[in-house]
Amino acid sequence: MDFTKSLLAIFAHPDDETFGAGGLLAHINRAGGRTAVISATRGEKGKLHLDIPMAPEELAKLREEELMAAAKILGVSRVHALTYPDGGLDEQSENEVVKKLLEIIKEFSPYAILTFGPDGGTGHRDHIAIHKFACRAFQEAQQFGEPPRELYFRATPKAVRELRREAAVVSGRKKTAGHYEESKIPLPYSEEDFIAIDVLPVVHLKNQAAQMHKSQNPKWFLEMPEELKKAFWEKEYYYLAAITKTP
Ligand SMILES: [Zn+2]
Repeated sequence: MDFTKSLLAIFAHPDDETFGAGGLLAHINRAGGRTAVISATRGEKGKLHLDIPMAPEELAKLREEELMAAAKILGVSRVHALTYPDGGLDEQSENEVVKKLLEIIKEFSPYAILTFGPDGGTGHRDHIAIHKFACRAFQEAQQFGEPPRELYFRATPKAVRELRREAAVVSGRKKTAGHYEESKIPLPYSEEDFIAIDVLPVVHLKNQAAQMHKSQNPKWFLEMPEELKKAFWEKEYYYLAAITKTP
């Protein structure tokens, strides 16, 4: 992974960029690369962590602001908060979403594209949907004069996922039922091929960015058990899913 090049992260919700790839984004921006983030939705359904009720439009506005603030800390130069429905991304017209992604790819001209793996990382249906859309957009963008050359998936080794699950059970952190795929989607690649990135040198930025996502209870991430923090928060894993040759 070349941190001096440009990367477009295509995710589903405001906060996926920080909790998912905050370290990588900060690394690239610090190394002189360029990054942009797409959040396909404005996260209006993510109300589980709120103390007070909030109308969806109000929450969408708040979460968009949180995304902008977090991205600024990470050094992200472009943020696109798209307005597809949170919790309903998989019901959107694939052609329409891919067309929108291609417009942004054409304009930003990234060297690499990052998205979730086929299991959506957490099994969230919006994550699985954006994975499909981003993969198709990567393929179709190969016809551009300056096409993206590398496609990465966010990955989490099984052992780390186990640790995370245990910690979530202990803390009582819940997932919004209905947004998650029931069955496990097997990954067609092996953990041995994951690229591990040491996030420690930029973890202060990731922590600050996480704090911007106030509506999403960043406390859980910032105060996770030491073992999990080392394995999950201070390390990020990626999988190089596709590479196309430079002419
Ligand atoms: Zn998400």
